[in-house]
Amino acid sequence: MRRLLLAAFPVLILASCGTGGGPGAVSWKPDYWGHRPGPRGFTTVILDAGHGGHDPGAVSSSVGVREKDLALDTVKRVQRKLAGRVNVRLMRSGDEFVDLDERVRRASGRGGTVLVSVHYNAGPSGWNGPENYWWRVDSHGLASRLQRELDKASPFDGPNRGKVRRRLRLTRNPDVPCVLVECGYLSHPAEARRCADPGYRDRLASAIAKAILDQQAHGDPPGPLPPPINKPPSRPTDPPGS
Ligand SMILES: [Zn+2]
Repeated sequence: MRRLLLAAFPVLILASCGTGGGPGAVSWKPDYWGHRPGPRGFTTVILDAGHGGHDPGAVSSSVGVREKDLALDTVKRVQRKLAGRVNVRLMRSGDEFVDLDERVRRASGRGGTVLVSVHYNAGPSGWNGPENYWWRVDSHGLASRLQRELDKASPFDGPNRGKVRRRLRLTRNPDVPCVLVECGYLSHPAEARRCADPGYRDRLASAIAKAILDQQAHGDPPGPLPPPINKPPSRPTDPPGS
């Protein structure tokens, strides 16, 4: 018990320092809408490897790699790069299926926490490069940082959507800042070959880790906040893109 208390103490100290990114912001707690600047000084990152188990996600027809495997490998690389800088929790650490609503439940209700969900993409012929999906006002800064760092790490030549505001279950429903990262298109043969290379995934992981640490240290990058949009939680029955 004594060891447990000692181990918990530094986390409590750090948590009390967590603030929102804006001037005058006070203690940082989860909320439902996220209508505020992005967080600075958060203590915990939940890394969510997309898909898993019976759900492989996108599968490359050219090199055969599966999204669920690349996503898990990437979050473990990010975890290693963040070690000692911020507490990291993995949504899944093996090849298991976790329902999207269960992922939302596990990420929610936690102060001083951000959620980064890692995926690999599939889409129209010729599309390639990283994309980042966000919805909440307090997630826009982190999405911007992730897009900038991943664009630097990737030799993509487009077209793609870049940074996109989209109401998804993992961007709208958690009550903490959350961004869904699409690292690259497995449907694009050259990009699929890159993503199959552990060295390239390590560079992507470094980019993701840098964006997280920059957000933790500085809060949002300069620039206006996006307007809040009040929409109901995302449901699996919603029409695509709604
Ligand atoms: Zn996915």
